[in-house]
Amino acid sequence: MSTNPMFNIQYGLFVVTTALDGRDNGCISNTVAQVTAQPNQISVALNKANYTTDMIRQSGRFTVSILSEAAGFDLFTHFGFQSGRTVDKFAGFADCRRTQNGTLAVTRGTNAFISAEVQQTVDLGTHLLFIGLVTEAETLSDTPSATYNYYQAHIKPKPAAPAQEKTGKTVWRCTICGYEYEGEELPADFICPICKHPASDFEKVVV
Ligand code: FE
Repeated sequence: MSTNPMFNIQYGLFVVTTALDGRDNGCISNTVAQVTAQPNQISVALNKANYTTDMIRQSGRFTVSILSEAAGFDLFTHFGFQSGRTVDKFAGFADCRRTQNGTLAVTRGTNAFISAEVQQTVDLGTHLLFIGLVTEAETLSDTPSATYNYYQAHIKPKPAAPAQEKTGKTVWRCTICGYEYEGEELPADFICPICKHPASDFEKVVV
């Protein structure tokens, strides 16, 4: 039985992109939802530490590309495990298309894109919640959308096969990207160096 009821909420997975001053950027999110139908509005909550968050706050526009079960792990590492502050994620990235609001939709490993114009921004402390009016939407493929559970079960690489003999060593494994921290205790303020997720996303395993 799941020990944390919060884990029972199902999420989709998305690349959220924006453009500002001729610069394109995007990040992975699992928090996109349609919040009203009339008018058609969507919301997305993004960590303030993300460069994309900063850019959307200024540009007032974004596009959500919905990741499908055809998405490879490389899309997650490309858009999720590095920062647009240090890397131009769209340099040499051909699988995208400019939408009407001037942002890029990702066309590989996705099944639709939705563009929106920000109507409201709610400060949630660690995150900004953007509520956007849908300005354009298009279906790209009939491959089912990737859920967070599908990502965990089928897209994220499995940890390396255990050695013949157990070492009995304790490691803390990031449940998002698989990074392993060696040690009995994981510092409470630990941040995964690969995917930037907090200590709460690590599980204790004996290898
Ligand atoms: Fe990680």
